[in-house]
Amino acid sequence: MEAAKHENIKLVTNTEVIGVDGEAGHFTVTLRRNPWYVDIERCNGCGACVDVCPIVVPHEWDMNLKPRKAIYAMFAQAAPLKYVIDRERCVECGLCMQACGLDAIDLSQEPYEERLEVGAIVVATGGQVFDPSAIPRYGYGRQENVVTNMEFERICNAAGPTEGELVRPDGKHIRSVAFVQCVGSRDVNHNPWCSFFCCMAAVKGGRLVMEHAPGAEVLVFYNDLRACGKGFEELYRRSVEEGMRFIRSIPTVYENRTRNDPIIVYEDPETGRIERKEVDLVVLACGLQPSPAGRSLRGLLGLPRDGYGFIREAHPVDGLCETPREGVFIAGVCQGPKDIPDCVTHGSAAAAKVGIILSGKGTESCSDA
Ligand SMILES: Cc1cc2nc3c(=O)[nH]c(=O)nc-3n(C[C@H](O)[C@H](O)[C@H](O)COP(=O)(O)OP(=O)(O)OC[C@H]3O[C@@H](n4cnc5c(N)ncnc54)[C@H](O)[C@@H]3O)c2cc1C
Ligand code: SF4
Ligand code: SF4
Repeated sequence: MEAAKHENIKLVTNTEVIGVDGEAGHFTVTLRRNPWYVDIERCNGCGACVDVCPIVVPHEWDMNLKPRKAIYAMFAQAAPLKYVIDRERCVECGLCMQACGLDAIDLSQEPYEERLEVGAIVVATGGQVFDPSAIPRYGYGRQENVVTNMEFERICNAAGPTEGELVRPDGKHIRSVAFVQCVGSRDVNHNPWCSFFCCMAAVKGGRLVMEHAPGAEVLVFYNDLRACGKGFEELYRRSVEEGMRFIRSIPTVYENRTRNDPIIVYEDPETGRIERKEVDLVVLACGLQPSPAGRSLRGLLGLPRDGYGFIREAHPVDGLCETPREGVFIAGVCQGPKDIPDCVTHGSAAAAKVGIILSGKGTESCSDA
């Protein structure tokens, strides 16, 4: 939101990059500006159109745990906070046009192309979360109360489907949670790399459960607990002292069909015995992988991929935000899994390199390529 207000930043949303020509200092970027079907200069975000729209579909932003209308704003902090029509779902009933006092709805809008002249490019397309239905032993997709870490984030969010109340998908209040780590990560059958953020995200999520529901039981089933980072080991130890249980085991998740409760079956690493534990909710720590959007932009820019499919940096030590194409930089998870602090550091470094090019100080110091 701060970026949207900054005088030197032009936000171009609902847009795809479809072409890039030129070289460092003088790129021409071709954009496809997709229609909103709402004149966003006129729309003041009042929401009158939403109230009358008869079409109700699952909201992707809330991981389909909450509904939205065919005309909607993506989320409360969206920038710009304007409404857009999902044309695949819209039945063209015209009710939103009648409700809009500013005459802002325009179903006749078409995509158009626009060209931008820029000196440098930073790719920051992030990644994609692993789909756990590829691992049947965790029950995802078959059991209602087995959720991904993304879904859990929405359940905990004050603006989410349960308004921050700790309620599982079937409506029961959550008193016990099992976090299952390394889902799809560090797994030679899926993604061999460590996704980096998920161990500490589970510790954070477990603490949140214990704060919201005092006395709640939190179990973390892990492979190796990677608490690397300033203060992270201390937070992990404090969580153990406060009652969070960490069990080094890769479980299988069954279901108590009468109660809809997930049942965790695991080998106790201390006794070697097979144990069974019934919980209210299972949260799968799905890791990060390259995204299709990142892949197509990488192709468009002619950038190389690493062995995993992320964008390959110019040098693993002193060229982490540079690419072999001069004037094109990378930041965040598109280069490899990272947590937010590391993404911010990476982005700041890329911005500094861009500053060198835009200030006309030359590109020699920016890229080894
Ligand atoms: C469930 C979960 C919980 C997490 N919890 C934590 C946590 O507690 N602490 C922490 O530090 N980290 C956490 N992380 C990791 C954190 O989310 C990432 O480190 C961070 O979001 C990555 O930032 P990014 O800018 O690289 O990518 P993103 O945040 O994914 O942003 C990429 C953006 O690029 C846009 N985009 C993609 N393709 C295109 C395209 N072709 N054209 C235009 N735009 C495009 C996307 O829409 C998106 O807005 C968590 C991750 C997950 C999945
Ligand atoms: S025209 Fe489309 S977006 Fe508008 S109210 Fe009807 S279904 Fe909803
Ligand atoms: S951060 Fe933890 S849960 Fe995530 S892949 Fe690495 S070891 Fe597994």
